[in-house]
Amino acid sequence: MEKWSREWKLEQLSLLKAEWAVCQKCPLCEGRKNVVFGEGNPEAQIIMISEAPGEEEDKSGIPFIGNSGVMLNSMLKQVDIDRKSLYITNILGCKTPKNRDPISTEIAACMDRVYRIIYLIDPILIVSLGKVALQALVGGRWSVNQERGKIFSSPFPAMKTTGERNGVSVPGVFFPKKGENKKEFTLDYDLIPILHPSFILKESPQKADGTFLIGGEAHRTMDDLNHIKSLVERFALEQSKTKIL
Ligand code: SF4
Repeated sequence: MEKWSREWKLEQLSLLKAEWAVCQKCPLCEGRKNVVFGEGNPEAQIIMISEAPGEEEDKSGIPFIGNSGVMLNSMLKQVDIDRKSLYITNILGCKTPKNRDPISTEIAACMDRVYRIIYLIDPILIVSLGKVALQALVGGRWSVNQERGKIFSSPFPAMKTTGERNGVSVPGVFFPKKGENKKEFTLDYDLIPILHPSFILKESPQKADGTFLIGGEAHRTMDDLNHIKSLVERFALEQSKTKIL
């Protein structure tokens, strides 16, 4: 089986999932039903990383199937992004008590799983959903409201070497190509933060038919998603031209 083929990635992800299904690296293992490892396309161009599973996700082991998932699916549909084309996971594999924010020791314990998933998927772009994912991936105390839609360049080296904030590139500047010789845990990906769907839900009441009213924050997030989609499409096009040459 060729390394980096779809089959190889599927096998590696499945091995990793089995390894983390019995994880006891932090006390959250005591209150969970399932570790929500992540799911989606092993060859995804975009990996979406959110905060932690909720009740529904804990019961099923599948990320984003509660109300936040319905909102995310609805926004993705409206900007014509197929959820099945993505890979989706969380910073934490286990739910927190009463959905409280994750604490730093829990995040530190679970980041190895996140790094390994990113390494195996090898996406074009990471999209973080909400404050916890942005701060865990980039370091620093960024505000998602202020930074949403901006491109954070190469978050991992900054976090791994200095722990300091990395520079935010100017919105609209196209992100650089990744190096050919990627090595495990010296990952070099760009990241764009967007709002967490649960935040958007606060201004989007549920309608009688089960769908949600689409308000201003949802529209702004769909603008961010459209921008993300066009950047990734451009990058993929450039990448395919390079391969042909
Ligand atoms: S949250 Fe992560 S590190 Fe903690 S027990 Fe669950 S899978 Fe393990």
